[in-house]
Amino acid sequence: MNLSQLRKMMLFVAEKMVESEPTLTALDQIVGDGDHGIGMKRGFATLIVLLQDDQFKPNDIGDFFNQVGTKLMTSMGGASGAIFGTLFRAGGKSITGEAEFNTSTLAILLNQGWQAVYQRGNAKPGDKTMVDALAAAATSANELCQLPLKEALPKIAQSAMEGAEQTKQMIAVFGRAKNLGERAIGHMDPGAVSMAYILKYMNEYIQMS
Ligand code: ADP
Ligand code: MG
Repeated sequence: MNLSQLRKMMLFVAEKMVESEPTLTALDQIVGDGDHGIGMKRGFATLIVLLQDDQFKPNDIGDFFNQVGTKLMTSMGGASGAIFGTLFRAGGKSITGEAEFNTSTLAILLNQGWQAVYQRGNAKPGDKTMVDALAAAATSANELCQLPLKEALPKIAQSAMEGAEQTKQMIAVFGRAKNLGERAIGHMDPGAVSMAYILKYMNEYIQMS
């Protein structure tokens, strides 16, 4: 897909993320401090404004995601503002100059974004964070990068959701959830669910278009 199609897809994703606020809030009320849904809603609502602004003219796919990441980072706040901002900024920079968003550019974005998130926050798979969904998606995207997005994204999104589901069994090492210890077992990490949702909504858009 080209830049203008990508922009429409991310507008759809942003609208869906805003709608997901109650689910994300409910999860963070169990394992965190309850603000994750509000932070995501604020970030993606700001993104909707950016994506509808005629003055927003990114140079290419990489620049698009880089600017999306900057917007999220500066509007969301909290741990997740830095984390999701870093994912899209670093992921975007790694595909600078690309004109086409396809499975291969998505795979690079997810993998380079994952590395940057690790450098920023030190979370490894198994630590009960969004990295559990991101790492699963990045690995799956690498395996499927020859396929068109329409065929690959259902599987990538599913891998991310499985990664999020697996956080139920984990004890958190970061944020407020770590104070809960074993009491967080049985509950998904809200950031992991957000990560899985972003890919789920990308997939929903791709299947409609
Ligand atoms: P805060 O922790 O500041 O309240 P949020 O509630 O918005 O921020 O986001 C919490 C989410 O951020 C967690 O569910 C987790 O997925 C993610 N997160 C927290 N710390 C890290 C980290 N070091 N690396 C990756 N993700 C993290
Ligand atoms: Mg929180």
